[in-house]
Amino acid sequence: MKTGIVYKDVYLKHNEKGHPENKDRLIAIMQELEGKGLLKELTHIEPRRARAQEVSLNHDPAYVQEVADFCSAGGGHLDVDTYAGVDSYEVALYAVGGVLEGIDRLLEGEVEAVFCAVRPPGHHAEYATAMGFCLFNNVAVGAHYLLQKGFERVFIVDFDAHHGNGTQRSFYEEDRVFYFSSHQYPFYPGTGSREEKGAGKGYGYNHNEPLPAGAGDREFERVYGEVFPKLFFEYSPQFLLVSAGYDAHADDPLTYLNLSTQGMTRVVHHLLESAKKLSVPVLFALEGGYNLRALAQCVRITVEKMLEM
Ligand SMILES: [Zn+2]
Repeated sequence: MKTGIVYKDVYLKHNEKGHPENKDRLIAIMQELEGKGLLKELTHIEPRRARAQEVSLNHDPAYVQEVADFCSAGGGHLDVDTYAGVDSYEVALYAVGGVLEGIDRLLEGEVEAVFCAVRPPGHHAEYATAMGFCLFNNVAVGAHYLLQKGFERVFIVDFDAHHGNGTQRSFYEEDRVFYFSSHQYPFYPGTGSREEKGAGKGYGYNHNEPLPAGAGDREFERVYGEVFPKLFFEYSPQFLLVSAGYDAHADDPLTYLNLSTQGMTRVVHHLLESAKKLSVPVLFALEGGYNLRALAQCVRITVEKMLEM
């Protein structure tokens, strides 16, 4: 597949020394892609700066303004583990804008798959709340953007080791967006049980695969080789958005899942193979992943798989 990568150095300006979600994550990823000669094979996509109005497709406009004001006043912590510095509002607009620009390029047919090497991550951010290292929900804004363009079936897969409470909440009563998540459970942020299936017309369009601590390649093969394709083909989506968090890796310092690099490769393979079968555009947006070596390797494998599909 013709593959694009969204990246800009502005993403390094959101940083807190000693925090696991820091700029070194993207530096490690870009060095790995460069070192393995992959950057020249990828179409570079320059992210745009999302407008506050676009971010408000998924967030309370008053909250968007609150983040802007908080950052311009010098920043600090929005919750116990979510920092925002003086540049973070700007960076977060570019993270959302990276996803939107990636979507535009996919819809124009310039590329068939896109990897967004963006930060801060997004899947914990709710309508009016920053949470779990996330300011704005990049993928959720992307899904709303597609709905606004007339799409009727958007599939979101979230393989980050943490449940994407923000994304689930955004589309819980929506049948035009299917949210599928695998994650360690019980664990942060507390949501993500099997019983959370959606509500109203969204009932049946929210699927959680809670995994116990220690779950690894065998469990992920069941989830992505069997459960996911069945739901994906039944829904017959027009677009696949992936919250690509690589913290389910065995070496990740923040979680207790046990996925090997090979197992992660299989997950990515199943996602891309299913998207390819339906010829749907696919966009991955970076979420978690805190062991720099495992993160960089797994992202490299992801884009390699995209290129060879
Ligand atoms: Zn995570």
